[in-house]
Amino acid sequence: MSETRQYSVLFEPVRIGPVTARNRFFQVPHCNGMGHIRPQAEAAMRAVKAEGGWAVVSNQETEIHPTSDLSPFAENRLWDARDIPALRLMTDAVHDKGSLAAIELAHNGNHAQNLMTRAPVLAPSDMSLDYPYPKQARAMDKTDIRNFRRWHRDAAIRSRDAGFDIVYVYAGHNMTLPQHFLLPHMNDRTDEYGGSLENRLRLTRELLEETHDAVGATCAVAFRFAVDEMLGTDGMQAAEEGRAIVEMLAELPDLWDVNVCDWSNDSLTTRFQPQDGYQNDYISFVKSMTTKPVVAVGRLTSPDMMASMVKKGVVDFIGAARPSIADPFLPQKIEQDRIDEIRECIGCNICVMADSVGAPIRCTQNPTMGEEWRRGWHPEIIAPKEREEDALVIGAGPAGLECAMQLARRGYQVTLAEAGSEPGGRVLRESALPGLGAWARVKDHRLHDLRQRANVQIYTDSRLGAEDVLELGIPNVFIATGSHWRADGIGRNTLRNRPVMDAAATVLTPDDIMAGQMPPDGPVVVYDDDHAYIAGVIAEKLAAAGHPVIFVTPESLVSSFTALTLEQHRVQTRLLELGVDIRCNHSLAALDSARMQVACTFTGRTQDIACSSAVLVTERLRETALFDALQGRDLTTLELIGDAAGPALIADAVYAGHMAARNFERAADAVDRDWFRREIIDLTPEIPHA
Ligand code: ADP
Ligand code: SF4
Repeated sequence: MSETRQYSVLFEPVRIGPVTARNRFFQVPHCNGMGHIRPQAEAAMRAVKAEGGWAVVSNQETEIHPTSDLSPFAENRLWDARDIPALRLMTDAVHDKGSLAAIELAHNGNHAQNLMTRAPVLAPSDMSLDYPYPKQARAMDKTDIRNFRRWHRDAAIRSRDAGFDIVYVYAGHNMTLPQHFLLPHMNDRTDEYGGSLENRLRLTRELLEETHDAVGATCAVAFRFAVDEMLGTDGMQAAEEGRAIVEMLAELPDLWDVNVCDWSNDSLTTRFQPQDGYQNDYISFVKSMTTKPVVAVGRLTSPDMMASMVKKGVVDFIGAARPSIADPFLPQKIEQDRIDEIRECIGCNICVMADSVGAPIRCTQNPTMGEEWRRGWHPEIIAPKEREEDALVIGAGPAGLECAMQLARRGYQVTLAEAGSEPGGRVLRESALPGLGAWARVKDHRLHDLRQRANVQIYTDSRLGAEDVLELGIPNVFIATGSHWRADGIGRNTLRNRPVMDAAATVLTPDDIMAGQMPPDGPVVVYDDDHAYIAGVIAEKLAAAGHPVIFVTPESLVSSFTALTLEQHRVQTRLLELGVDIRCNHSLAALDSARMQVACTFTGRTQDIACSSAVLVTERLRETALFDALQGRDLTTLELIGDAAGPALIADAVYAGHMAARNFERAADAVDRDWFRREIIDLTPEIPHA
């Protein structure tokens, strides 16, 4: 059977209440750090998804009222009619590409801090905020509940007026009021909204009925519902109340969008859940309890799994947030038999990280994500070359691979030289560490593309010096030689008080471990002043191999950056379970052959930790020797990119490679002047709200 026929089930239209989706690909709501602050950027990003074949394109949680103010995070906003034009940008753009637009109406209860509005925070019962901020939410009285229902109804009407085809009632991720009312630990009311399941469900039922009543003739009403809290008997379970709720509301929504919560369980990284479709065990009962279409997620990137989920009656729609971010053209590639071109999500949650800090979305695999409007980048289209013919890219890590691939797509004759025996650079090395196997997709996708192209030559085992480069006679040279971890203990927290390093100390770096070297017998300290994933992963590897590991960090949490990728709790739990001795709030003071001296980051008080070796994870040094040697030589282009230009995330290296290829042959002054388009605040005095 041809692939197209095998997957034809995925391209059947599906009716959702009064509207019809042209196929089964459904981009569920996902945050993106653009929202009401950058509405043109959001509209353009969503339009690319529609163009790539997603039949339904949703926005993200949309604040319906000033009492649900998610500032400083940049979500969508629909407080009143003045917010309609910004949302209209998205619905017009999505309709223009033939897809349906969905809006996720949200009231976030105690998950909103109301930092901008300074409004009181609302919840089913008196309780603290969902943030470590000294403010409490108050139990909603009957007037609050009536008001909330009216706000939701008004927002639904405005959603319809903004052109949305599907309007969500949202009870998920432990982040919204309807779900807070459902959960017994958040709802200790004694009135008709508390106590029995029927009472706790009352508010959700009212919202669904009232949304239907308000806009149901034109818009489908979707219900996003977390069927399981993943807390076993300590929380709502799919087999118990989750199931009962689906049964009680079965035919009320026009669409069931089901998942597990909280967000860290819904958007699991591959490090902690390598299996695609990992939510199926929890959500698969839903379809048997309703005749309405069901959508579910679980980092679905395999067309085989998608088709089988539909054929087996697990879902009607293939839901995706991250797979649609990594490849907005995933549906079209399946439809056109171009499955090997799919840019598979690697499950790293760098997209989540950006939202978590209120920055525009980015993606490790898809460097055009978030750049659709401001830079005009399209994931599948790149301008053809102008005058130049040849380019040499040195270093086949993520920056070099992406740069070479995009240059080749532009039509240049590309030579890619790599010192190592295999291309991939840090991606090759890091993907061999525990849990990071899926990250190899970053190199696999690019190598697969490069190997198809007649205008590309890849040389491995080719460490080039300056004279080799000049001898090749290629006038345009991109240097992507990367970086290596330093071994002297210098980093963020030791700049002022530089560590005293005894020459007899056994020091290893992440590069040594990735190259296969293991510490000698005896206790090993993993010292982390980097705070991302590497030190935690190395500690895990060493502990699993039987080494007694002491993890020292100046931060108060292990791998603190991973809180932004929703992993920190899991990282620390895993290390504790492996018996790693964790010492937070201490920085490196001295190291010799028998001990590490560490200093408390608060008091400066020192203590000794006995160890026979240390793995120092502090900073990286840029590999610029080749670039330096080529400066001033007779070359048309000489550009340093990726980690060699500034060590950062793999996502940043890919982005740098992409940028260099896009900018090649653009006038230097234009590149310097036109960073990107900005959404500048309109200073016209505001017209009062009618
Ligand atoms: P980035 O993240 O910027 O892509 P990496 O460290 O992943 O950087 O990759 C850099 C690659 O460059 C490594 O695979 C390394 O072997 C290669 N490299 C470094 N110096 C040279 C050189 N002089 N010639 C060819 N390849 C080089
Ligand atoms: Fe997937 Fe990572 Fe891209 Fe997010 S950033 S979509 S997790 S590859």
